[in-house]
Amino acid sequence: MTSKVYFTDRQTRTDYNMIDKLEHVFNELGLNKAIKQGDKIMVKTHFGQWGNTNYLRPAYARKIVDLVRAAGGIPFVAETTGLGYGDGGAYGGRTTVPEYLGMAALHGYTEATVGAPLLMADGYWGTDVFKVPVDGEFIDSVDVAMALLDCDHVIVLTHAKGHGLGGIGGTLKNLGIGLVGKRGKAAMHFVGDVKINADKCLGPACSKCLKVCPTRCITMHDKAVIDQSKCIACHHCVSVCERIGVKAVTHTWRPNHTQGPIFVENAVGVINSIGADKFYYINLAIDISDKCDCWNLGAPLLVHDIGIFGSRDPVAIDEATLQAIKDAPPNPDSVVGDIECGVCKFATAHACKDPESGDILDLADIQLSHAEKMKLGTRKYELVTITKEPPKKRGTSED
Ligand code: SF4
Ligand code: SF4
Repeated sequence: MTSKVYFTDRQTRTDYNMIDKLEHVFNELGLNKAIKQGDKIMVKTHFGQWGNTNYLRPAYARKIVDLVRAAGGIPFVAETTGLGYGDGGAYGGRTTVPEYLGMAALHGYTEATVGAPLLMADGYWGTDVFKVPVDGEFIDSVDVAMALLDCDHVIVLTHAKGHGLGGIGGTLKNLGIGLVGKRGKAAMHFVGDVKINADKCLGPACSKCLKVCPTRCITMHDKAVIDQSKCIACHHCVSVCERIGVKAVTHTWRPNHTQGPIFVENAVGVINSIGADKFYYINLAIDISDKCDCWNLGAPLLVHDIGIFGSRDPVAIDEATLQAIKDAPPNPDSVVGDIECGVCKFATAHACKDPESGDILDLADIQLSHAEKMKLGTRKYELVTITKEPPKKRGTSED
């Protein structure tokens, strides 16, 4: 069985630009007909870390919002809180609603620019979630962002690029990291308990970690102590302690090659929470670096811009996007400048080694194989290249 993936390339004309092409993909996916009057529509995207200059421009979200409204829907643009208090330095981070919405505004994402409310789907601290069982190899449940429950459709609008822990950061990453709460993100990145090293802790004179603990499970004695039975591993205390340069709170990173499979399993929970028929996927394969948009830099691009992909299958769309990136000639100025077309640029750029053999691992392949195994979709796809003329009336959903 194959899944359809719609594709339009990066070539533009003055009367048919990338925003027009996005409308074309929207219509090919059937969204203009599927959305009914009054439907609540989440447009899920990523607002980018401060210092990142490759994140998706808000104009794409604005276009989707306008199309949803034209079809009768009530759109909102959503993200979830990130890990790491104050990661953006003077500009804050992405850990709380005010931190991340402040960051979003710096990147041009406001209600005024996207034309719809901006919502942090997992609440102030990333703890506004509901638990969904998952029959996975790594997890048995995941905390899914609460706002999903009220959605009639979800349009997953993704910037396709690399991801150092999953190979490709595409639709599956936007689902499995982007639509889960803080605990789901932490479970993917880290293993075991968060612990305080009493030898390093500054004690009552500091107490900064107590204030940011959402479960109030840190108490102060002569040093800070965590009640592990109440800890949800949100890592707020880790990042706050790191920010003051003490690093008394410790955690352990998961082996890289297990992280993609975990966010795939998170994605299973996200999709099962409201049903696969509610989700529509769009990948914008532009500004393609090896790094995720949660990095505070604009890493050099690996290939030229490729275009826009759309599908109802989250695995097929990432496979088609990955294949196109593999096939594109490498940017000679990038870290993959001298590799052959057809070789996975992300695997070469990330150079993640198998802990036993020392061989370079293809994390994208590991991620997508696991997604297929978890029956999220198929890696076999039929690429349907959109060659039709553009919609006649600009700015509407008419085909
Ligand atoms: S933030 Fe760090 S140094 Fe300060 S009390 Fe907490 S663990 Fe100790
Ligand atoms: S102790 Fe646990 S719940 Fe509290 S801030 Fe640290 S990681 Fe989060």
